[in-house]
Amino acid sequence: MNLQAIMDLDERYYMNTFGKRTPVCFTKGKGIYVYDTEGKKYVDFLAGIAVNALGHSHKILKKALHKQVNKLIHTSSLYYIENQAKLAEKIVHNSAADKVFFANSGAEANEGAIKLAKIYFYKKNQPEKHEIITLDNSFHGRTLACVAATGQEKYQKPYKPLTPGFIHVPANDFEALSAVVTENTAAIMMELIQGESGVRPLEQDYVDKVVTLCKEKDILLIVDEIQTGMGRTGALFCYENYGITPDIFTLAKALGGGVPIGAVCAKADIAAGFEPGDHGTTFGGNPLATAAGLAVFQAFEEEKLVENSRAMGKYFKEQLVALQVECKEIQQVRGMGLMIGIECRSPVAKVIQLSLLDKGYVIGTVGDRILRLVPPLIIDKKIINQFIKDMQQILQTL
Ligand SMILES: *Cc1c(COP(=O)(O)O)cnc(C)c1O
Repeated sequence: MNLQAIMDLDERYYMNTFGKRTPVCFTKGKGIYVYDTEGKKYVDFLAGIAVNALGHSHKILKKALHKQVNKLIHTSSLYYIENQAKLAEKIVHNSAADKVFFANSGAEANEGAIKLAKIYFYKKNQPEKHEIITLDNSFHGRTLACVAATGQEKYQKPYKPLTPGFIHVPANDFEALSAVVTENTAAIMMELIQGESGVRPLEQDYVDKVVTLCKEKDILLIVDEIQTGMGRTGALFCYENYGITPDIFTLAKALGGGVPIGAVCAKADIAAGFEPGDHGTTFGGNPLATAAGLAVFQAFEEEKLVENSRAMGKYFKEQLVALQVECKEIQQVRGMGLMIGIECRSPVAKVIQLSLLDKGYVIGTVGDRILRLVPPLIIDKKIINQFIKDMQQILQTL
């Protein structure tokens, strides 16, 4: 089908939650490149919103999926699943968690984490500990509880009354946070780098204080690693960059390399809050999704992709900071590893995005001033250098 026909079909039959999309439809991908219906080639600096960590059509992921499709896709969790057990082991061996539960998306993983925090205290005979504190401008997903957790009015307004028990405070303001902590506080939930609101890392000192507060007051720390996890920030999990260990953390986006999967990961005593019947899922962690997760870990190990994310992220940021010196339009470059935000002085994000699209680059934007770059972790210097050159040209002609 050509692009116009697809757009017409979408307009007629698909619910209009995404508004006017970028008028492009990709039909195939290879490595860091994607191709559209008209055969145009693009370099992918968005990776399906930080999902395609291995790029497109990666041989290890493809092989694992083909193999699994030929055997078995789904069985339900009423039976034991080899890939599910193995992927849980992989995550545990590489993280601060002792136990894992698989869901199908980020929001669903966060739902699981919120339920786990609540049931943990319920089982300890402290049902009054049910409140969850989250941060302003956070993003935790689109289910009703996650919308209540998300500290952004625009996602909440039409859905009131919201799930009760969520309190929002400004990020990096420890006084504001400690002021709302009571004997009812069950957990503090945060992204270490707020992704959807513009790639904003939390301050180290603030995070350290939150960790200490959680220990003192018997509060669980839930870190939403859905976007920052799986090598994105130059460490397998972003909490490593901060030198902390969460009680619960959640994964999704890159975990399946494009196949939908989410995970709730927790320390043993907290995970024990879930007993038979307390939580469940039909699809979560099925043989196909967990085959994808195992393939992602295999590719990470064989191709040293977390190390590459760290090295290329550092290089990319250095080049962007150098660009900032000569281009006054760039106000700030921030982020960690290959999760990079560029804040512009004026509302030119959309113009830059479209100019880049024209030159064959896919990037993300947040609001009208922030560019978001979350390329596949397989990226190399040559591609970064070319991007910097093209970006420089665009900034000069603004
Ligand atoms: C993307 C994202 C989510 C939601 O994930 P879905 O798979 O869209 O439900 C939650 N939290 C963070 C930090 C995210 O980036």
